[in-house]
Amino acid sequence: MDLQHWLGRATHEIQNWADTYGAYDTHPSLLVDEDRFATAFGELTGRLKNNYPFFHPRYAGQMLKPPHPAAVVGYLTTMLINPNNHALDGGPATAAMEREAVARLAAMFGYDTHLGHLTTSGTIANLEALFVARELHPDRGIAYSADAHYTHGRMCRVLGLEGHPVPTDNRGRINLDALEELLRTGRIGTVVLTAGTTGLGAIDPVHLALPLARKYGARVHVDAAYGGFFTLLAGADGPEGLPPEPWRAIARCDSIVIDPHKHGLQPYGCGAVLFRDPEVGRFYLHDSPYTYFTSTDLHLGEISLECSRAGAAAAALWLTFQLLPPTPDGLGQVLAAGRRAALRWADLITASSRLELYQQPELDVVTYFPTVEPATLTAVNAASARVLTDGMTVPDPVFLSTLRADREAFGTRHPKVTADADGARILRSVLMKPESEHHVDDIHARVEALTG
Ligand SMILES: *Cc1c(COP(=O)(O)O)cnc(C)c1O
Repeated sequence: MDLQHWLGRATHEIQNWADTYGAYDTHPSLLVDEDRFATAFGELTGRLKNNYPFFHPRYAGQMLKPPHPAAVVGYLTTMLINPNNHALDGGPATAAMEREAVARLAAMFGYDTHLGHLTTSGTIANLEALFVARELHPDRGIAYSADAHYTHGRMCRVLGLEGHPVPTDNRGRINLDALEELLRTGRIGTVVLTAGTTGLGAIDPVHLALPLARKYGARVHVDAAYGGFFTLLAGADGPEGLPPEPWRAIARCDSIVIDPHKHGLQPYGCGAVLFRDPEVGRFYLHDSPYTYFTSTDLHLGEISLECSRAGAAAAALWLTFQLLPPTPDGLGQVLAAGRRAALRWADLITASSRLELYQQPELDVVTYFPTVEPATLTAVNAASARVLTDGMTVPDPVFLSTLRADREAFGTRHPKVTADADGARILRSVLMKPESEHHVDDIHARVEALTG
């Protein structure tokens, strides 16, 4: 895709449409001098160079990557009009696109009915799911694993709900015995299960936790903000295929959050929440004297906590799905490449005498640490920190991230490392760009060299 060509086409098409309304003069208060603009623009592009190269295969750190060119063109084209998806009065075309894109997400998870919408982020999407959880069970709390995203605990405080962290097992998944013990107290109204934890990519056993929750009358919300699109690899042939059971069980859970701005090739500002029962829309009912006037159809703002939202985000996702739909043959191929890259790197680390795998990657997150002698948490921590910093500052750089593992979590995986501290930082690489598949050997060699 020739981005320059399509961005030129975008300004042209939108200008043609604007011209049908007749010419008018821009107000003098808005006019800016070309030379002054050029100076300011130069300063902007200069300052933007203070960034990590998220687009490059040598960036193997956090969950960051640029959007697909289709999403960029979809977003920027639509932004020239700047519709607001709060109401059909603010953006009829993009509201329709949002509903179509959301329906595709619901179908991807196997929901046969749904009510859902895009949000600004996964955090807001989860807030909405917990808000509905509170409305349905006002007197009961929320259970989530100790490895769940930190915002669940925070949003419980926002909503005035009791949050209950549940211990994890030796692969970072919610401990079912501990969960059942908690459910037995009758204090839990909703269980949050994570399909792909942010730190390790661990997948809570949704198929086993769901019947447990039901037995005790609790609802189930699945936080698949990061991992959701990996459902496209459930039961797939080849090394990238994932055990299907937890993914298939999501279809029977009450709500789901997924972030198209993580694995859906979108720019930031695109999360989504889906409810299986459309009746929960009643909790959002509100009167607004200044919106909702051109249509009696459902406005997206009538089913979301946020008011203004970028119609451009919906257009970007819609356009991307026309080309790379959320199917195994479409977007699934993008995720498969990252997953194969993670597996390949895990093999290289396992065979290496300089690095050790923290745990086998569950999705596309690889966690590892330098081999140290004597093997203590303090030494692991220092060596990881050094590789991280040196990696970014040496010529021929490689960009990684770190994850803090506490003493217990580390000990269950690596009992031979002496626990002389509360925990240790280890190295973490999210291989979410499909190009990683062709560069893991190179990245591995760089990281190995950094341990020397
Ligand atoms: C990223 C993430 C979130 C938060 O989403 P944002 O879009 O960053 O607000 C919540 N849960 C999980 C599992 C995540 O990975």
